[in-house]
Amino acid sequence: MSIHIAENINTFTSKIPDNVALVAVSKTKPNSDLLEAYQAGQRIFGENKIQEMTEKWEALPKDIEWHMIGHVQSNKVKYMAPYVGLIHAVDSFSLIKEINKRAKQNKREIRCLLQLKIAEEDSKFGMSKEDLVGLLEDSRLAHFHHVKIVGLMGMATFTEDEEQIEREFSFLKETFDSLKSKHPQLEILSMGMSGDYELGIKHGSNMIRIGSAIFGARN
Ligand SMILES: *Cc1c(COP(=O)(O)O)cnc(C)c1O
Repeated sequence: MSIHIAENINTFTSKIPDNVALVAVSKTKPNSDLLEAYQAGQRIFGENKIQEMTEKWEALPKDIEWHMIGHVQSNKVKYMAPYVGLIHAVDSFSLIKEINKRAKQNKREIRCLLQLKIAEEDSKFGMSKEDLVGLLEDSRLAHFHHVKIVGLMGMATFTEDEEQIEREFSFLKETFDSLKSKHPQLEILSMGMSGDYELGIKHGSNMIRIGSAIFGARN
């Protein structure tokens, strides 16, 4: 089956609202696929492995904005610090501290999202609401001038049950709204993938992470 990547990019770009950013999740896909999306105008790409993302960053046009969407180990932060545009799944103080340190070494400010655990499955990463609020309000963050927390991210349970997905997304949106009044730097709500982005947008997402619906299934 042939996949029409450029066409898929154009379809997404025209059907999602203007305020919703499209992250093309290109993990496991070859550079030629990313270039096809790039030539259709796509500029934000999401990867979940640092080494793979760095190899793609080195090979592909420099005006691409690279988003790390996977779980990040502190000892890998240094590899992406020179170029990463947004880290989606930040979930600890020690990780923020390391991102700040590496951003400073690179004379950059790195933008991050905090990941809220909204799924019922145990396997999903992310923080409880209590831990997330505690982290956001940790007074030590005031000393970190090279990291900026700009929003929240979450992944719903992988299920056919749309009501469950909607409950999980609305919990994330409520948490986002309640924190935003006190922390106006929170602007991004990264919520929705190929299978559930419509529900994500319905519940207030302004950034969707789309892989298979653009590039086809992964092996
Ligand atoms: C792989 C991945 C996606 C994209 O998944 P699709 O179902 O292929 O759209 C989105 N977000 C995260 C965190 C991922 O790991």
